[in-house]
Formats: sequence, structure tokens, C-alpha cells
Amino acid sequence: MGNFKKGIVAVPDDFKGVDWIGKAKSAGLNTLGIHSGGGAAHDIFVNLGEYASTEFQQRVAASGLELEYELHASKNLMPEKWFDTHPEYFQQTQRSMERVKDFNWCVSNPDTLKIIGNSAADIIRRLPSSTHDYFLWACDAPGQWCHCRGCTPYTFSEQALISANTIADAAVTVDPQAKVCYLAYLDTLETPRLVRPRPNVICEYAPYRRSYEYAICDSRSGANRQHLKYLIELLELFGAEKMHILEYWLDGSLYGKPGDLHKSPFNKKIAEEDIRFYTSLGIKNITTFIVRMDGAYLEKYSDREFQDYAEVVNKYLG
Ligand SMILES: [Zn+2]
Repeated sequence: MGNFKKGIVAVPDDFKGVDWIGKAKSAGLNTLGIHSGGGAAHDIFVNLGEYASTEFQQRVAASGLELEYELHASKNLMPEKWFDTHPEYFQQTQRSMERVKDFNWCVSNPDTLKIIGNSAADIIRRLPSSTHDYFLWACDAPGQWCHCRGCTPYTFSEQALISANTIADAAVTVDPQAKVCYLAYLDTLETPRLVRPRPNVICEYAPYRRSYEYAICDSRSGANRQHLKYLIELLELFGAEKMHILEYWLDGSLYGKPGDLHKSPFNKKIAEEDIRFYTSLGIKNITTFIVRMDGAYLEKYSDREFQDYAEVVNKYLG
């Protein structure tokens, strides 16, 4: 791949009635990300189904697109089977001070980190990334980090980075070129300070709670002022080369209720201002979720938003 990424990130259901491989390729994009879905926690392989198969991976490779997986992998990284014998591997809640198995883990326990590293290596073996970028994230629920005595010195961002560092060390045993994502999202947007990223840890910035009424750099939005501050601090730590943007411009699930067909927040003028700004910072990896942009969506709203996104991202990332 060149030295920039122009992509879309889809869940398996988004392929109903749409050939996203062909569509992304013919629109001049270069990367297809597969997401196993949101919600607190799930088995990634159950959700991915055939999209985890070698056959699918080969089909994407044959098209000339890069393929990567973007996954809330907590259930696979720390399998529930450990809970009965080792509840101390799992997170301790803040209020009831109980160990719970449904979310993340205890990052100050070395045995926990060993399990997470081993699990990550297994996942990477089954889900290779042609970009060598691996996105194995914690659960998709804010505040679900460990509050035990050993973990409580660390912010949620620092607990997430300890986890990413562990995965990064394990990943290179399977793919020597592996880079592993620290996800800056919800409660991990704040830059980690007590923990330093490994050299092969990259940062993906997913500004879920920003405003789409204004560009990310537009100070008229309070949410965007806050998100811009997070972005600038993350850039200082990771550097532009290692920054990846995962936006929601084409995400029809952002405002919609499950089951409905809500339009994505896409506005060409805002998206262009965002992309112009991100690239002006030296960021060369830009992707957006297209969740719920399936055949029915395109029938209702046409593919204008997708084509406009492709046009703008191609303009700034030749
Ligand atoms: Zn802990």
C-alpha cells in the first residue's frame, strides 16, 4: 500500500445488497475495514461469520484493496472461561467492588496480560491484516476499566494503552511488521501519561461524541473544541505518521434506532473541512464507518454521500 489510507469500515450486514469491495475499489479508495459491531461485548468470530474466512480475505486481496479488521475483542482477548477459577483476572467495578466478567480486565495482573497477549496472537493468526495494522479493542462501553488497588493509579486511557502495548508485543510474534491500535474513543480520548506507547503502537481517533453541525476544527461547537484538544494532545504523543482517523461521516447508526434507516450525518461541506483539517496536520490515514449503509439504505438515499466522501478523501489524499 502507499503511505496513506483512504477507507471505509463496514459490518457484515452492510454487504446485504451491496458489493462494497467493488464499490470501494471503483471509487478510488484503498482500504476496507471489517467491524464486528458495537455493544458491550461479543464473540468477534460469531459476529464476523464468513467475513472472517480465508475465502473472504482472498476475495478482498484479489480486488487490490487492503483488508483490516476493527474489533471490540474483549470477549476473545479475555475468555469468560477464566472467571470461575480466576475472577481476579477481570475488572473490579468502582461501586460494588466486585469482579465482573462482561467487560474488560485487570491490567495490573501479569497473568491477565499473558492471556491477553496469547489471545491476541491467536486472533491475528486467524484475521491477518494486509496493512499490518491490527485493531483489537476493549469492550464498547464507557467506564468499564478496573478499579482495583493495583489498577486505580492508571486512567482509563492508561489502562487501554497497557493493553495495547501487551497486544503489540504479542502481535510481532505472528506478524513481524505488526502495528497495534490504541483506540482513542469515549473514555480513552484523553492522552495517556503514565504509560508510554510501544514503538509499534498506533493511535486511532474515533470522535463519536463530536458535533457534525460544525467541522471538527470549528470552535463554535463546544464538543468539537473538546475533541480538538484531545486530538492535538494525542498527536503530540503519537506523531502524525501514527495517527489514524475513524470517523462517523457515513454512519447511519449514529443517530438512528436499531432497525430504522436513519440518514448518516454526512454533509459534504463539513466532511471536506474535516478532511482538509486532518490532512493539514499531517494525518494520512482516514476512514469512516458506513454502518447500516446497506442495499436498502442506498435505495432510499442513493450512494451520493459515499461518492462525495470518496471524492473529498481522494482530493486530499491523492
Ligand atoms: Zn485491576
